[in-house]
Amino acid sequence: MAQSTETTDWVSRFADEVIEESERRASGKAASPADAPVVVVASGLSPSGPIHLGNLREVMTPHLVADEIRRRGYAVRHLISWDDYDRFRKVPKGIAGVDEDSFLEHIGKPLTSVPAPEGSAHPNWAEHFKAAMTESLAELGVEFDPISQTAQYTSGVYREQILHAMRHRGEIDAILDQYRTKKAPAKQQKNQQKPVDEAELEAAEGSGAANEDDGSSGSAGYFPYKPYCGNCEKDLTTVTAYDDDTTELTYTCTGCGFGETVRLNEFNRGKLAWKVDWPMRWAYEGVVFEPSGVDHSSPGSSFQVGGQIVGIFGGKRPIGPMYAFVGISGMAKMSSSRGGVPTAADALKIMEPQLLRWLYARRRPNQSFKIAFDQEIQRLYDEWDKLDAKVAGGTSQASGSGGGSALPGDVAAHARAVGTAAGELPRTPRPMPYRTLASVADITAGHEDQALRILSELDPANPLASLDEVRPRLDKAETWINTQVPADQRTIVREEPDHELLKSLDEPSQQSLRLLLDGLTEHWSLDGLSHLVYGVPKVQAGFPADATPKELPPEIKTAQRSFFALLYHLLVGRDTGPRLPTLLLAVGQERVRTLLGE
Ligand SMILES: [Zn+2]
Repeated sequence: MAQSTETTDWVSRFADEVIEESERRASGKAASPADAPVVVVASGLSPSGPIHLGNLREVMTPHLVADEIRRRGYAVRHLISWDDYDRFRKVPKGIAGVDEDSFLEHIGKPLTSVPAPEGSAHPNWAEHFKAAMTESLAELGVEFDPISQTAQYTSGVYREQILHAMRHRGEIDAILDQYRTKKAPAKQQKNQQKPVDEAELEAAEGSGAANEDDGSSGSAGYFPYKPYCGNCEKDLTTVTAYDDDTTELTYTCTGCGFGETVRLNEFNRGKLAWKVDWPMRWAYEGVVFEPSGVDHSSPGSSFQVGGQIVGIFGGKRPIGPMYAFVGISGMAKMSSSRGGVPTAADALKIMEPQLLRWLYARRRPNQSFKIAFDQEIQRLYDEWDKLDAKVAGGTSQASGSGGGSALPGDVAAHARAVGTAAGELPRTPRPMPYRTLASVADITAGHEDQALRILSELDPANPLASLDEVRPRLDKAETWINTQVPADQRTIVREEPDHELLKSLDEPSQQSLRLLLDGLTEHWSLDGLSHLVYGVPKVQAGFPADATPKELPPEIKTAQRSFFALLYHLLVGRDTGPRLPTLLLAVGQERVRTLLGE
């Protein structure tokens, strides 16, 4: 069993608060964690299409808090509510197996009543997109209880809550009315992260979208509940009459003209409006912690309004921090099959779950950050490896070892990244630097035997027995190179020496190449070659190869730069490339000698 991280970071602070609130709601402080009530935290996700990677924060924030509470010995339920009984609003663009025009006919139906994209193994639209996210959450080590709102509503689980809301529709209407303005805010499902243009588009739609969140208003007055039509399955219905005593409800459908009278005490094909549905569920599940997107801090937001409505259901508003949006940097144009939306699965193809968990754990929810799909991922991995090494070396500040130690907050974030209360996540046995693995994958282009040779030469005293030792990190780096690095940044090693360039070299340049070639065999390892390539310009200028920067004139830096540029030109025909020691190892000694004109 993993220990509590026993340090103060944002996760610990929320865990303290959530445990305290959970006990306050029960009978008071429990004698021990084992005697305490089950702590309930929640996330909500809409499977209306591919689930945007940014929405992972909706899950990771409560996950990290739940995990800390679990580490302290309390029982926790992390609910993930799938809002799969919401209406299908629009057809996302560019989804494989979806003809945009023919799917238009499904707009207005519950997401679970829309067919899955063609070729999908799943029974409907919602299940198709839930499956991908569920798989990613498993890889990330997120333990949760899934709740399908379709299953809840259509089996009558919320019957009493619906009848209660209908009885109290006047109060609900009065609360909602405090926030109704001419220029209503756009539809704000709490967890929807959208591209800016789409958000603007919805804002321009105006009050129609907002009313939809509130409920149904017609000549018969306001109702917080809307049936899906018994004929066309769409929510284009208006409640025209309701009797509190008999629970008889009459509706008509503006879509197909159908109408009927049903008894709400036995009818299961409709749902509460979003702004009522959400607080109803806080009360029903006893949710103590549920964050929401930063756009919900505004007056009239679902969270604010929900905080007033939840009392009608006899519940309390959860502790609900607003989280800032998560950006994505430099994702290459995705294949049209995923509609251009980066998902958690896309991130997990290029980075290990530990790194992705770390990005969320180390930033407070109100801090925005970016998930790197571009070159930045290499720097991020360097930073992660450095922290990992510090933690493994036990050089935390608490141990008093001074310089180079990890701060307590960093140690906590690291612990949350590498595992959960259930144990450590599977890790790459030999986590060689990501940038090295990426370079090797770049240069070897899928030739595994070549990759194994190069990686073994990095550290000749301790060679790799098999590529499995560097997996899955190698696979992630390889996918990154193949899917995210533009063709003009890929490394293509020259087939033939650049005879013209070699012939045109002046005497000092020729001498630098000779010095390098003479030292090649002796220095054939990652460390050795680093020493050699930096050392050559020093030796040429009359200094020892191991002279430190302080002992050298600044011109040495210029000499090193032009020496490196020369090597890149001779090896790969460009000004830059992967780090030279890695590149040299990847190219191989024999070919290096040929290309450098020996
Ligand atoms: Zn209809």
